[in-house]
Amino acid sequence: MPRSWILSALVIVTAVAGCGTCPVGKQVASDLPPSHYQAIEAAGHDVITIEELATSLPDEPMVVGFDVDDTVLFSSPGFFYAFTNTRGPGGANEFGEDPLDHDEFWIALNRRLDDFSMPKRIAVELIDLHKERGDEIHFITARPCPSGDPAPLTQRLNELFGLDNEHPVAFTNHEEKTDYIRERRIALYYGDSDGDMRDAKAAGIRAIRVVRSPLSTNPSPNNDGTLGEEVLFDSEH
Ligand SMILES: [Mg+2]
Repeated sequence: MPRSWILSALVIVTAVAGCGTCPVGKQVASDLPPSHYQAIEAAGHDVITIEELATSLPDEPMVVGFDVDDTVLFSSPGFFYAFTNTRGPGGANEFGEDPLDHDEFWIALNRRLDDFSMPKRIAVELIDLHKERGDEIHFITARPCPSGDPAPLTQRLNELFGLDNEHPVAFTNHEEKTDYIRERRIALYYGDSDGDMRDAKAAGIRAIRVVRSPLSTNPSPNNDGTLGEEVLFDSEH
């Protein structure tokens, strides 16, 4: 059976199943039309299911890395607040006219606005997979960390994904992640942006694209499948 038919069938089954009987955190319906993944395959790019991913991994434990925003966390609510709040003096934005240029925003995001960031369902499944394998898990984010303290985000991720992670989140401050990937001997990296895929490829490792939620406010380029990576099926939520 052609692969695109199988993907269509999977999407139809999950859409018909709906979420009425799904366990909490196990939403399966997809907002993206099946043509999103079909188009990726039709263009000659690789789409992989989580089951195929699991069977493709080496028997031995490995080191894996995850991007944070739009890969493991749906963090758009914090960014939405940053651009729309009127909590500053006289009803102004509390982070100034361009929040992303202000340290106060990034400190607030890392310390309190992530309270509104939601764990993606696919991230729960992927991290559970790697925990069960005994793999070492790292997080690398392009976020700045003006406070110099990675503990709040590290703690938040530990809580959300049931991790006892001794590795603090690495903040690259918008710089490339390649050196961070190499230093940590990461062999497989997950990310939603083109930059994630490029940086993983530059480090010579396997790159897996997690599809960005259709509700995300993130404007950075995400041309799924175009950089020689594998695209994870049904990964937008
Ligand atoms: Mg991201």
